Order: sequence, then C-alpha cells, then structure tokens
Amino acid sequence: MTLMELWFTEEHTKNVRFSIKVDKQLVSRQGDFQRIDVFETKEFGKVLTLDGFLMVTEKDEFIYHEMITHVPMAVNPDIKKVLVIGAGDGGTIRELTRYEKVERIDMVEIDREVVAVCKEYLPQTACKLEDERVHIHYEDGLKFVRKPVNEYDLIIVDSTDPFGPGEGLFTKEFYGNCFKALTERGILINQHESPYYENDLKAMQRAHKHIKSAFPISTVYQMHIPTYPSGHWLFGFASKGLSPTKDLNAEKWNGLGLKTKYYNTNLHLGAFALPNYVMELLEES
Ligand code: SAM
Repeated sequence: MTLMELWFTEEHTKNVRFSIKVDKQLVSRQGDFQRIDVFETKEFGKVLTLDGFLMVTEKDEFIYHEMITHVPMAVNPDIKKVLVIGAGDGGTIRELTRYEKVERIDMVEIDREVVAVCKEYLPQTACKLEDERVHIHYEDGLKFVRKPVNEYDLIIVDSTDPFGPGEGLFTKEFYGNCFKALTERGILINQHESPYYENDLKAMQRAHKHIKSAFPISTVYQMHIPTYPSGHWLFGFASKGLSPTKDLNAEKWNGLGLKTKYYNTNLHLGAFALPNYVMELLEES
C-alpha cells in the first residue's frame, strides 16, 4: 500500500507552479479575513500560508525579516518610534526589538487570528510579541494611518499582496498618510512585490508610482527569497530626506554588534544597485 503524498502548491503564474512536500498539516483555520494554514515540511520547516499564498517559512524567513528591518535601522540607528503594519507572524517585531534605542512599536494587524496561530505554531518568529514596547492594534492599517501626524520615525509595511485585505496598503491615499505620519527624518519601508512575472511587476510599478508621488526620495532594494515567486523580491525605501545609501551609518550600525545571517552593511549598498530591467520598470511607472 502507498500512502498519498501531500504537497503545498502555489500558482506563481498561469504557467508556473511552486510546490513543497508536506509532512503534516498542523492547523487550518478560517480567520475573519483569510484562511490560515500551517504545514510541517522537511525542506523549509514550518510554513505559514494565508488564503493559499505562502507567507513565511522557518528556513528562509531570516532574509525577509532582516532586510525589512536592518536596512532602515542602519540608515538611522536613532529610530525610537516605529509603526509596523501587518506582520502578524512576528518576524519583523523580533528583529526590531533587538534595538535598545527603539522605545515604542505600534503594530497594526487586521487579523487577530493570524497572531494567535503564529504564537502557537511559529514561535521562531512570534517570540517577541510580548515585549513591553510592542503595542498591538487589531485594525485595518489603511484606517489607522489616517490619524497620526509627525509621529513615527519609521513605518514598515509588512503586508500580504495587493489583493484581499492588503489591497488598501498599496494605494495613493495610504502612502500619502504614511508621509504625514512620519517625522522629518522618517523612513517608509514596504513589501514591494517582485519585478519578474507580469502580474507581480504591474503591482510593483503601481506601488512605486504612488510612493513616488508622495515622497521626495523613493527607490527599491532587492533580495533573494527562495520561496517567493521568481525568488527575486523587492522592498520599497522612501523618505522625506534621508538617502538609503549616502546616509548609511555603517560604523554606528556595526558598532551595535548585532549578529545577522543575511544582512550586512556591504550587502546594504549592493541591494540598492539594481539590474537595468528593474531600473527601466521603475522609470516607466
Ligand atoms: N512576509 C509576508 C509576505 O509578504 O508574504 C507577509 C507576512 S504577514 C503574515 C502579513 C500580514 O498582513 C497578515 O497577517 C495580514 O493579516 C496582514 N494584513 C493584510 N492586510 C492588512 C491591513 N489592511 N491592515 C493590517 N494588516 C493587514
């Protein structure tokens, strides 16, 4: 007798699929906004998916969470007040809480159930959500960001893709309100999709167009995430004045002595050196 093999499969395009062999399904729960699944796998450890889209794997999450956090923190290591939108798995919060100078983190997550599932099944990422500087608000980030003015040194948008609950976090209104919510030395980092496949690159061009209309400095940086569509992923860097490369404070950041697995200050500079086709996509947008 042969037992049926179980595979998680995500459609990256109509013609491309990405599959991971699953040992066991640990949980499948319908939250208020999306279906939440966690799988145990040999290759990637535990894997979190929302509505069938892969969010986090234990094996490669360090790349995403280090790059979304340490890049802005190395440009301004004096950041004190941070707004994080989304991020229910806790990985971004884990990295931010490593900075003693950070005094307060407001995390705005739309789906309470994602946080509950991650606390139970993904302690690798959800391990610092109880830090006393972390204040979790269960709200839509699009609405939350309408209120603050000149309040945050850093906003990190660690969201799902631009459809479903995450759609509003890629709009002109949202980025305009982020600008207003940031202090003079403020930085916005956002999940910026992939430049590779047609669907993803259209979303990334739309996001760039809107951010560019709200911020004087706006660019993207790249990293390699094996489990995301095409493996080639971008984050957006926007600010009221700070340059992601000229203002990199490598000496101060290295002086903090933080141990990282992916990020370093040489890689920081390299991540902003973009392939020609990506520069062209940004110019067209
Ligand atoms: N690393 C992931 C990725 O890009 O695939 C994102 C991780 S995190 C799990 C994304 C979180 O954003 C989800 O928990 C989702 O509930 C949350 N989210 C989506 N739309 C939101 C919104 N409008 N306001 C606040 N949180 C939102």
